[in-house]
Amino acid sequence: MSSAMRVGRPVKPLPQPHCEYCGKAAVLARVGDEAYPYRDDHGPLWICASCQAWIGTFPRSARHVPLGRLADATLRDLKAKLHAALEPLVQAKMRRDGCNVFEARAKGYRWLAKQIGLEPEKGSIHALDAEQCERAIAIVEQFERQRGRSSPSESAWDDR
Ligand SMILES: [Zn+2]
Repeated sequence: MSSAMRVGRPVKPLPQPHCEYCGKAAVLARVGDEAYPYRDDHGPLWICASCQAWIGTFPRSARHVPLGRLADATLRDLKAKLHAALEPLVQAKMRRDGCNVFEARAKGYRWLAKQIGLEPEKGSIHALDAEQCERAIAIVEQFERQRGRSSPSESAWDDR
């Protein structure tokens, strides 16, 4: 048996996200820092100042693991649009399946990930790039149009 096999689990290195747009290493900023884009506290953010791109970290993540890819202004707008478009379906899902809003949203993004050909585990809004966001918005809008013709109680997506 080689000695390497007895070595314990390696310590996970701290994450170092890179900017999706220029490839530079992102910098962790906190509220009050010069680079921090908000006046109020949105938690620590990984920022690329030159691209004005950033992403938040998982709440209570001591390692400041980023939620997903860095997003520039265009991608932030698309994510807000996708979030707003999905909300009526999330509400319908809650009514129909009796789940809470967090479950319904998580399921919604897993469903969308599948629809656009991503791994369902990557089903987080923060994993999407601009093109994937646009495809997801189109899918939600198409679903909404068909929804108008069916009974409202049946109008959530199916997870299978
Ligand atoms: Zn950049």
